[in-house]
Amino acid sequence: MALLPILTAPDPRLKKTSKPVASVDAETRQLMDDMLETMHAAPGIGLAAPQVGVLKRVIVLDIDREDVKTGPLFLANPEIVEASDDDLTYEEGCLSVPEHYAEVVRPGKVRVRYLDRDGKAQEMACEGLLATCVQHEIDHLDGVLFIDHISSLKRNMILRKLLKARKEQERDAAEGKPAKSKAKETTAAL
Ligand SMILES: [Zn+2]
Repeated sequence: MALLPILTAPDPRLKKTSKPVASVDAETRQLMDDMLETMHAAPGIGLAAPQVGVLKRVIVLDIDREDVKTGPLFLANPEIVEASDDDLTYEEGCLSVPEHYAEVVRPGKVRVRYLDRDGKAQEMACEGLLATCVQHEIDHLDGVLFIDHISSLKRNMILRKLLKARKEQERDAAEGKPAKSKAKETTAAL
C-alpha cells in the first residue's frame, strides 16, 4: 500500500471527467487500497480517484460517526439510480479544498449501483451523511467540486484563498522554512 498525493483546487485535473473501469482487476484493487490508506491518513471519510490524479471512476468511503458507521466501502463505476425529492443540507468539506466548508443542498436519500472490490454488481440505499458523501464523491468523477454548488462569489473567494495559501507554501519551501502544521479538521472532509 502507498500514500498518494492529494490534488487541491484549482488543479485542472479536478475538473476532468473520469472514465469507467473495464473491470475490477488487480490494478483497480491496488488503487482502491492505496486510496483508502491515503484517505485514512488525511484524515477524510471519502475520496475519489481524480483527487489523487487518477481519472478512473473509483471512490472509497469510510464513515465512522456515532450515528453512521459504514466500514471501508469500495465503489467502482458508481451510478445514482434513484434520488429522493426531499433535500438534505450538510456542511461539506473536501480534501481537495482544504480548510474551507460550505452548506450544500442535495437529495437526502439516493440508491447507488456499483461494482464492489470483488467486481460484483451491488446496489446500496444511502441516506443522511452517507447519501451526501456518495453524491459528493460521484461529483468528483464528473469534475464537479462542492464549491461548484455554492454562489460564484463564495467559490471565487475560496479559490483565491487556496491559490494564496499554495503560493505561500511554495515560497516557504523555497526558503527552506518548515511546513505549517495543518489546522485540526472539525468538519468531515470528503
Ligand atoms: Zn471532495
